[in-house]
Amino acid sequence: MTSQPTSALQSSLLTTFGFDGFRPGQEQTISQLLNGQSSLAIFPTGSGKSLCYQLTALHLPHLTLVVSPLLALMKDQLAFLASKGIKAASIDSTLKGNEAQTVMAGVRDGDIKILMVSVERFKNERFRQFIESVPVSMLVVDEAHCISEWGHNFRPDYLKLPSYCQALKIPLVLLLTATATRKVKLDMAAKFAIRDEHIVQTGFYRANLDLSVLPVTESDKNGLLAQIISQQSTQQQGPGIVYVTLQHSAEKVALYLTQQGINACAYHAGFDSDTRSQIQQDFMAGKIQVIVATIAFGMGIDKSDIRFVIHYDLPKSIENYSQEIGRAGRDGMPAQCFTLANLDGLNTVENFVYGDTPEFNGIEMLLNSIKDEVITSAYDSKWELQILQLSNAVNIKQLPLKTLLVQLELAGVIEPLYAYFADFKIKLLKPKTEIINSFNAQRQDFLQRIFNATDFKKVWGSLNFDTLLQDKTIERNRVIAALEYLQEQQLIILETKGMTEVFKINLTELADPSLCQSLANYFKDNEVKEIKRIAALVRFFQLDTCLTVNLARYFDDAFFDQNRLDVSGAGESGSTPQCGHCSVCRGQVAVLERSQAQVPWPSDETLKQGMSELTERLAGKINQPLSLESYCRFFAGMTVPLFGRNKVRQLSGFGVCEQQRYQGIRDKIAPLFTTMQ
Ligand SMILES: [Zn+2]
Repeated sequence: MTSQPTSALQSSLLTTFGFDGFRPGQEQTISQLLNGQSSLAIFPTGSGKSLCYQLTALHLPHLTLVVSPLLALMKDQLAFLASKGIKAASIDSTLKGNEAQTVMAGVRDGDIKILMVSVERFKNERFRQFIESVPVSMLVVDEAHCISEWGHNFRPDYLKLPSYCQALKIPLVLLLTATATRKVKLDMAAKFAIRDEHIVQTGFYRANLDLSVLPVTESDKNGLLAQIISQQSTQQQGPGIVYVTLQHSAEKVALYLTQQGINACAYHAGFDSDTRSQIQQDFMAGKIQVIVATIAFGMGIDKSDIRFVIHYDLPKSIENYSQEIGRAGRDGMPAQCFTLANLDGLNTVENFVYGDTPEFNGIEMLLNSIKDEVITSAYDSKWELQILQLSNAVNIKQLPLKTLLVQLELAGVIEPLYAYFADFKIKLLKPKTEIINSFNAQRQDFLQRIFNATDFKKVWGSLNFDTLLQDKTIERNRVIAALEYLQEQQLIILETKGMTEVFKINLTELADPSLCQSLANYFKDNEVKEIKRIAALVRFFQLDTCLTVNLARYFDDAFFDQNRLDVSGAGESGSTPQCGHCSVCRGQVAVLERSQAQVPWPSDETLKQGMSELTERLAGKINQPLSLESYCRFFAGMTVPLFGRNKVRQLSGFGVCEQQRYQGIRDKIAPLFTTMQ
């Protein structure tokens, strides 16, 4: 691979994309990649990260494989690429019938240069078989901070990307992210052996964003919100986003704003996907001025003229805050960011963290179920799981459960072998004999065996692999390849589900007596870390030095320190520089308080009654006695798989302490729990 002369890149930029110049960092990143140097690019949201891989892909000999965490992001980028006449596609769950086949054929022919997938797609054996068979020039990881356990959007499956990359022998990697602290940055680069000098970081600082923290009591919040939005509207008539923590607040706040004559609409993950995409389209088209949303809204929304972002509730972390305000003013015009702050919602934010920590006995159950499997399994040290069933069985939510599995992998206890679909369903598009007769004798025999092992009902037939594979001369891979081929030839329709993951078990590591405790400690450490992250956020909003400067420093951007930029001229050497466009620079240092009177605790009698209600409801539903943690979660109104299945929400004690901080609930329930034993 040779480096492209700058002029070649420039002309490719102009002729293909219609841009007459690179934005900061783009050219350096692209040149590095074309020199064969894996790179990490950290650019603020909306500053042209995607172009780095899009332009590079056109100059690479083979496929560029892009891993993206969100369908909406993929669809947006595909629409952009299509508008530039670049052949790109995705393989995702929305593809119907043989659309995936068409995409794969396009990639094989070299017609499609860019393929987008989610990280979960790698677990799909049909996809893995396919991607192993085509040469890949570059792997791109979008929103790459998901790789880092220190990051705020940690996606356990991302930890496996480095090994996929090695296994597929992909020579070049590009990691893209908008926000990364120093620790996250170094962590990401190390995982893909990216050299320090190939990290390209443009300024984090956005001069057009005005930051304000407004301390306000809970009861005054709605009034203040409506007032801010009305002022915004008279000044600029621009669109805006209001972020809230809970789905029901999104609806309540949107309703309030509508009653005040503001064109507002709620948006959250509880709406079905059609409703959500309709709302997005209306917002993009300017039919809705204000979206009141949970954090489900935003990733993948590329609207450049958002004039204000208001945090109605505290964001989850400084990282979330920065990502969310980053959606404002991407056109470079002034935009306002307000945080309506008090400490009332703090326990809600904290409870999200506590609710995700698996219980010690849940981890124990998981390890025991692996051990049981080893003893009873006919395939000695193999372990099979389907994530939903397992989540219910061990009472751990799916996300922490996935994290737990990745931790077991990293500890060498389990090793992923493959994943397969438990259910293969076949629909014949032509009569069976006609299909069989269109092949030569040897293949006819093979197909006949597959069809013999398929239980055909009216329309669909289910293939029974157990029966089929009893004949040791038949390999699973060949069967799948044959079915894929039949589908490509439009002779059948193939449907697969019931993703089953198969792991090899390392019995020595599994027998380690300290394993359960060390896994529990890992989650406890994470819990502590997350709670500290929330505390850091609360401190940030109460800083008495410039918010913008502190935010830039938090993300390792030395802009202010290097330039000694000080708009006000008030900074002396050694003091914090000032941006001149934040509430602290305007002399308003925020002090956050609890505005609502502390809700009194329910009486011990009520709590005891709640405990026995729960004990009774769950009697016989779980192998072990209920833990202290289960009672605390019940009173805090948190949902775990065991509660959801047994309709625990209906019990009168559910959520009676939801206004309390979780640590307080633990302290309160612990003595009652002890006397109950
Ligand atoms: Zn400032």
